[in-house]
Amino acid sequence: MAVNKENYNAIIQELAGKATLVAVSKTKPVEDILALYALGQRDFGENYVQELLAKQPVLPADIRWHFIGHLQSNKVKFIAPLVALIHGVDSVKLLSEINRQAEKLQKTIHVLLQVHIAKEETKFGMDEQELAELMEGNALPAMKNICISGLMGMASFTTDETLVQQEFSFLASLYKRFGALASSRQLPNVRFSHLSMGMSGDYRLAIANGSNMVRIGSLLFGEREKK
Ligand SMILES: *Cc1c(COP(=O)(O)O)cnc(C)c1O
Repeated sequence: MAVNKENYNAIIQELAGKATLVAVSKTKPVEDILALYALGQRDFGENYVQELLAKQPVLPADIRWHFIGHLQSNKVKFIAPLVALIHGVDSVKLLSEINRQAEKLQKTIHVLLQVHIAKEETKFGMDEQELAELMEGNALPAMKNICISGLMGMASFTTDETLVQQEFSFLASLYKRFGALASSRQLPNVRFSHLSMGMSGDYRLAIANGSNMVRIGSLLFGEREKK
């Protein structure tokens, strides 16, 4: 499988100054990752813990690994030493386990809170209420080894652009609201800088709605085999 260099160059140009590209390399071989690395790409996203653990040691050390899948608490310890940003944090339980592992390593782990914006049942994430409870509650300030760097979300898988646009703009409004709340509460471990939304099929719409980090797989690496 060859990577699509034309798409890569076009997307990089299109995103310049607006959004960071996370190249989603799940299920793809290390050769494909190296091919994009050679073009200058440094941010890569993986969904599965075992796969990330297999790839990371054989690839260049200056790659920034983004964990974008659903993370179970008992797997946090495996990725904590090597991950640059965990996108899919959707519970206080998971957050406190990340904090615990970060503390052991004497480092700060950067995370994004995943918000459920799609109409589909299957997508993970907190709702607005849970987000508010976390941001306004007392559990957060005690977690000194995490930094909440923003929000992440996935729109519905649909051709209905109006719906996708509504979901993205809703997430962008939460990003503004809770970013401002964190500043006013002076939460030291919350610094919103990343709004991670947009994939191969909807990244343009996401950017038009304020995304500054897109996660793109199939446009760069080709379609994936079904797992
Ligand atoms: C697989 C995946 C992507 C990339 O999807 P494409 O449609 O191939 O661009 C982005 N975000 C998450 C959370 C994913 O699981």
